[in-house]
Amino acid sequence: MAEVALTAGDSEALTVEKADLAKCARCWRHLPDVNTETQLCGRCDTVLHE
Ligand SMILES: [Zn+2]
Repeated sequence: MAEVALTAGDSEALTVEKADLAKCARCWRHLPDVNTETQLCGRCDTVLHE
């Protein structure tokens, strides 16, 4: 029972965290490293500049 409760709590926390993160304009993923100026995550920024 404890494991089930823990899983539900983690899922809820993850949803809140996702909504709080900026969305990358290229891959549309909510990531912590999205540049506020380019609206791109670090990975997409690297891809576009190679
Ligand atoms: Zn991206």
